[in-house]
Amino acid sequence: MSKRICVYCSSSNILEEKYVKAAREFAEAASLLGYTIVCGGSVMGLMGVIIDTMIEKGSPVEGFIPGFMEDMEIHHKGIKQLGVVGTMSERKELLRQNSDVVIAFPGGLGTMEEFMETFTLKRLGQFDGTVILFNQDGFYDQLLSLFEHFVKNKFLNSNYRDSLVVVNSVEDLIVAVKNSKKERLEAKHYLPE
Ligand code: AMP
Repeated sequence: MSKRICVYCSSSNILEEKYVKAAREFAEAASLLGYTIVCGGSVMGLMGVIIDTMIEKGSPVEGFIPGFMEDMEIHHKGIKQLGVVGTMSERKELLRQNSDVVIAFPGGLGTMEEFMETFTLKRLGQFDGTVILFNQDGFYDQLLSLFEHFVKNKFLNSNYRDSLVVVNSVEDLIVAVKNSKKERLEAKHYLPE
């Protein structure tokens, strides 16, 4: 089944090669499987790598970029379907509305903000897609420890924490995307225990 995959990822252009390689391998596999990538539409960092790879393979990419970023000339000029929106919030909403699954690749503050918003909206029944954290080489181990700390101290329901799909390799990431399904949660099931 053709899936629409939203990617949140680093905007840094000076990352270690292993992060670039994994992003490229993921996009190659997504292209072979006939998936569509939905993203922020910028040319920067890992997003730029994923978009370049998809376009090279002739595969579909849809982007949503706020006007101020287009003015900064950081939009990817190869994307045919690029929606220019007013704000970062609108962009995040459109990314969710147009995707079946979201993946947080290794990233910084922007990636974290996008991931956390979607992960919390899922708990409130406001996003139906699967949320995946790509914990490449333990990149997000400290975040997962923080979630464990939340659970231990009863600030987070363990079932909800466990509903997050965490994968460590590109192979497992692709399997997780293949297995992903839309599911609406009811907030009452995920109150802290
Ligand atoms: P970063 O992880 O900081 O490199 O940022 C990665 C992506 O997050 C980029 O595509 C940015 O456009 C986006 N981003 C940065 N700051 C924010 C924010 N406050 N809200 C939503 N997205 C953001």
